[in-house]
Amino acid sequence: MSMSNADPQTRSAAQRLHASLAARGVDRVVVHAMAQVPRHEFVPEDMRASAYEDVALPIGLEQTISQPSLVGKMTQALRLNRRCRVLEVGTGCGYQTAILAELASHVMSIELEPTLSGEAHARLRRLGYRNVELRVGDGYEGWPERAPFDAIIVTAAAPHVPPALVQQLKPGGRLVLPVQRELVFVVKDAEGRTNETSLGEVAFVPLRRLNP
Ligand code: SAH
Repeated sequence: MSMSNADPQTRSAAQRLHASLAARGVDRVVVHAMAQVPRHEFVPEDMRASAYEDVALPIGLEQTISQPSLVGKMTQALRLNRRCRVLEVGTGCGYQTAILAELASHVMSIELEPTLSGEAHARLRRLGYRNVELRVGDGYEGWPERAPFDAIIVTAAAPHVPPALVQQLKPGGRLVLPVQRELVFVVKDAEGRTNETSLGEVAFVPLRRLNP
C-alpha cells in the first residue's frame, strides 16, 4: 500500500534494502511491489529496527517472516500480472501475502495457526488490502473450492511436492516451494505436464500437517 506513514529513518532503511535487492537482480516490478509494503508493520514491535535488514525475523509461535531477498526471488519466479489468481500456503504475518496482493488480481492464503492468521487478517485490512482472502487450515491440500490458480507459493518446507497443489494449478501455472532444503520451481504446460527445476538451497520452517 504505502510507506508514507513511516518516519524518515525507516524510509531510508527501506530504500537501501530495496535498492540492494534491485542491484542483486530482483526484477524491477517485484522490487516496486516490495517497496509499497511497510515490512516494519509485519514484525513484532521490538524487531522494527531490523525490519529492513535482509534477514528472516521471528514472528512468534516459532515461525519467521522470510528474508526479503528470498521473498523477491520466489515472487519473481511466479511471473504475476494483474489478472492472476494466486494461492499462498503459510500466511504467517502476511508480508508475502501483501506483496502478492500488490501484483496479482486476487490472493488466497492458508495458515495453520489461527492466531497468526487472525493477526495477519487485521494487519492486511488496516493496510488497505482488499484483494486478499485468508483461511485457517492445512495448505498441503490446497484450496479446492478456489482452484484453479495461475500461481501457487508455499512458504514452509514440504517433504515433497504436494500433489493437490500441482492439481490445482491452471495449465501454464507456476508453483514455487521449498522441498526440504531445496527451492523448487514447477511449471505446468498447456497439456498438463509438469516440469521441475531447482532454484537453489534454502532454509524454511517445516510445513506441518493437521492430519498427516
Ligand atoms: N509467508 C510468511 C512466512 C511464514 S513462515 C511471512 O511472510 O510471514 C511459514 C508459515 O507456514 C508459518 O506461519 C506456519 O504456521 C505456516 N504453516 C506451516 N505448516 C502449514 C500448513 N500445513 N498449512 C498452512 N500453513 C502452514
